[in-house]
Amino acid sequence: MKWLPQLSKIVGKEHLLTSAADLLAYESDALSLFRCEPAAVVLPNNQQQVVDCVKILSAANVCFTARGAGTGLSAGALVPKGGVIIGLNRLNNILKVDAASRLAVVEPGVVNARVSQHVAQYGLRYAPDPASQSVCTIGGNVAENAGGPMCFRHGSTTNHVRQVKVVLADGSVETWGHPAHGNDGIDLRGLFCGSEGSLAIALEIHLNLTPLPEAVRTSLVSFESIENACDCVSAIVEEGIEAAALEVMDQQAIHAVEDSLYRSGMPRDAGAILIVEIEGDSDYVKSQQTLAEECFSRTGALSLKMAVTPAQRALLWKGRKNAGGALGQLAPDSYVMDGVVPPSKLSEIMRFVDEVAQRYELPCANLFHAGDGNIHPHFAYDGGDALQSKNVEDAGCEILQRCLDIGGSITGEHGVGLEKQHLLAAQYGVEEINIMLRISNGFNPQQLLNPNRGLPLGGGCAEAFHRHSRDVSR
Ligand SMILES: Cc1cc2nc3c(=O)[nH]c(=O)nc-3n(C[C@H](O)[C@H](O)[C@H](O)COP(=O)(O)OP(=O)(O)OC[C@H]3O[C@@H](n4cnc5c(N)ncnc54)[C@H](O)[C@@H]3O)c2cc1C
Repeated sequence: MKWLPQLSKIVGKEHLLTSAADLLAYESDALSLFRCEPAAVVLPNNQQQVVDCVKILSAANVCFTARGAGTGLSAGALVPKGGVIIGLNRLNNILKVDAASRLAVVEPGVVNARVSQHVAQYGLRYAPDPASQSVCTIGGNVAENAGGPMCFRHGSTTNHVRQVKVVLADGSVETWGHPAHGNDGIDLRGLFCGSEGSLAIALEIHLNLTPLPEAVRTSLVSFESIENACDCVSAIVEEGIEAAALEVMDQQAIHAVEDSLYRSGMPRDAGAILIVEIEGDSDYVKSQQTLAEECFSRTGALSLKMAVTPAQRALLWKGRKNAGGALGQLAPDSYVMDGVVPPSKLSEIMRFVDEVAQRYELPCANLFHAGDGNIHPHFAYDGGDALQSKNVEDAGCEILQRCLDIGGSITGEHGVGLEKQHLLAAQYGVEEINIMLRISNGFNPQQLLNPNRGLPLGGGCAEAFHRHSRDVSR
């Protein structure tokens, strides 16, 4: 392994991790069902160091995977045995803000929330706001085409990336897209967004900034059941109300938040709540709020609480955005799913999720970006128990298959990763997957860069990462 001292020479020995204790944190992302210890983790400090590391690994024929904060939920930031993780957290500079052009240029390790905090002084924000935004990185967001509550109105990450500078698997550096929008020819920038780190590694990203709204109204509406809350979402979407965010949480999720340090005064007795945020100029907000309140009444709302001051609004969002973390208290592991259905089918899929959870005897909570029909059942389980691990995956498969059956998708924002490879053909068909594979091979011919992520390269590849593959016959 003569490449190890070569990497050490580039980054310094304190930034090359090889001990079992150091590698432990890198053997999975936030989906702990899949694990694999890398041979090493290298932590470059600047773009040139990333390029130099890639060149060394490529020449040595060693596979490698870029990693941001490791909050991914589809096992995307893992590397096969013998491979190396390139951690990008030290590339965390906001390189430039051009307020007049509504542009920010950032390095991939910049944490999402930092961008909005930094540009607020110019009356701007970075709109995509994953619930994990206080830790996840822009590089990871671009690779997963991340969404978030505000993406219902503003669109997901790909709509906010103008240009990316990348390093390819062979160490060559390219720039895709244009800082002033517009694409001629094939949109390589668009192809990169959502490619799950398998085409190239982002070194520098040009982000589109959005003006802060003049007025915001945030309503917390409670309902007797999750079906009522989902019906209200359908009514709002049907009415054509342009809410910025429509977020549903069920009683299990509400209780987890209220039992945690993120408590934000959510009604414990509600079967479910809906958070509706409307933004724009004051007259527009007022008119849309009136229409929304008619939808609340029509669909059986029990109560309406407004977050009036910025502090009240921040508290409410703190509860919603930390609900995933709060649910982590329930069991040693959680499996956070990601599927999509047409918004009119939300009630139907929620009934199915409940039936599946009961059948497999798995505690389940739901919190999701309802406006986009993007569901996130959270299963609490013990990964040390092989049967529970198998049950949780089988339950997940059934739910995603049902999403497809009713006109939805197996992923809204978390990506395919290793988790959903086996379902990809059911969504796209073999011919389309073959086209994707040809594109992937064009960029990554030796499959050294994040191999086998998203696209299935061979039968049972994901199996090698399974924490319980030895224990359960699958
Ligand atoms: C509690 C919780 C809440 C979440 N809420 C949301 C949500 O609301 N919306 C949402 O979309 N997601 C959500 N997620 C999932 C996750 O936060 C996102 O997928 C996020 O974009 C991952 O960013 P990361 O920096 O952690 O990336 P990682 O997990 O480190 O990596 C994810 C993928 O990106 C690739 N990658 C990382 N950096 C680069 C780079 N520079 N160049 C190329 N590829 C790269 C990796 O190889 C990997 O395939 C949530 C996760 C958690 C734990």
